Amino acid sequence: MNLALSAEDRAFRDEVRAFLDQSLPGYLREAGRNPTSVFTDKEHSLVWQRILHARGWAAPAWPKHYGGPGWSVMQRYIFASECARAHAPSLSPMGLRMAGPCIMRYGTEAQKAYYLPRILSGEDYWCQGYSEPGSGSDLASLQLRATPDDDDYVLNGTKIWTTHAHWANRMFCLARTRFDGMPQAGITFLLLDMASPGISVKPIITLAGEHEVNQVFFDDVRVPKTNRLGEENRGWSVAKYLLEFERGGASGAGLKSALKRLRAIAAVEADGAGNRLLDDGAFRQRLTAAEVKVLAIEMSEHRVMSALTAGGNPGPTSSMLKMQGTEAMQKLDELAIEIAAYYALAVQPDARKPASNVPAVGPAHSLFTMPRYLNNRAASIYGGSNEIQRNIIARLVLGL
Ligand SMILES: Cc1cc2nc3c(=O)[nH]c(=O)nc-3n(C[C@H](O)[C@H](O)[C@H](O)COP(=O)(O)OP(=O)(O)OC[C@H]3O[C@@H](n4cnc5c(N)ncnc54)[C@H](O)[C@@H]3O)c2cc1C
Repeated sequence: MNLALSAEDRAFRDEVRAFLDQSLPGYLREAGRNPTSVFTDKEHSLVWQRILHARGWAAPAWPKHYGGPGWSVMQRYIFASECARAHAPSLSPMGLRMAGPCIMRYGTEAQKAYYLPRILSGEDYWCQGYSEPGSGSDLASLQLRATPDDDDYVLNGTKIWTTHAHWANRMFCLARTRFDGMPQAGITFLLLDMASPGISVKPIITLAGEHEVNQVFFDDVRVPKTNRLGEENRGWSVAKYLLEFERGGASGAGLKSALKRLRAIAAVEADGAGNRLLDDGAFRQRLTAAEVKVLAIEMSEHRVMSALTAGGNPGPTSSMLKMQGTEAMQKLDELAIEIAAYYALAVQPDARKPASNVPAVGPAHSLFTMPRYLNNRAASIYGGSNEIQRNIIARLVLGL
């Protein structure tokens, strides 16, 4: 499905294409083509962020006066689609798409002046301290204690599943400053320096053998009150505002490009006897069903874009897109496993590193197939599980 682009939009698209041709080096395309989860590793994503920043394009959705390009909704969509087509690495969303917009909305002038330029340039790398053992879907029950003490809060407790905490030098987190009353009314939103004494980060290794998430422990960690975002005990409003950004961003363009790749690989003779998986009727039917899903996602994205362009709000459509986008991604992962067949069973993390000496078993794409499949199982859990999104849709769309 193609959007009808105006002459100006076509000119913008061509400008983006020319920029990508010129500025996106092959090794970054390779990193973007073969991620093993929705995140690209810090090393590659930061190089790409710096290239974009030099052009003023690191934060497509930021207003111009904070260093964004001031693009229209359509221009942002074109940019995201072209980046997906070119296999540009994804940028870490925790600073650019989560902390940044919250600081713009709730930050003091001093906080804006300090943090926003550092987020744009990549000097600060953020992680998100929301979930705790026992507080995920029921986030308002969180227990990380922040005790006021002179000009500081003193933090004790733990956060879990903290993506990239081992790379981050900043964390935005939710802490409890009041234990009586409604749980939502006792939460405070804090910005932390990860080098603060008393913070320790312990790895959690995923089924794919990768280190992406962590548990973070706080042992008498002092955080200056000037690092509070918004008012004390009003952090829940900030937290909810941020989740709107976390849930957006399912990309039909990225899924389309993954589909195209699957089709190309399935079209290759697999057994030396002239047989191609693409000629198998049952496989083709599954691939076509996935294509229909991706097309539906693209159409929903266009609908959201039209609503945003008209000054509206995507509302519960963002829940629908989150659900559909993650389910389609998992379906494509299953098809990729089917294509790679037994080669997908060889899990070789070392062979995936650019200068690895480990001899690869099977076709190169199969090195990434199983870890991607395993890691992307989490996509229907993080950012608000799909069951929770279904609850939202039931309430707001179906009125149940
Ligand atoms: C790979 C990964 C990365 C993550 N990164 C981060 C991060 O960087 N920062 C961070 O703060 N958190 C992060 N998370 C945590 C994530 O947000 C939580 O895992 C998620 O909110 C679910 O919470 P939970 O794991 O406690 O599961 P639970 O809330 O205990 O849910 C368990 C199951 O019950 C279902 N369920 C729960 N409540 C309901 C309900 N009311 N109705 C129907 N079904 C329900 C859920 O859908 C789920 O299937 C990450 C998680 C993963 C897996």
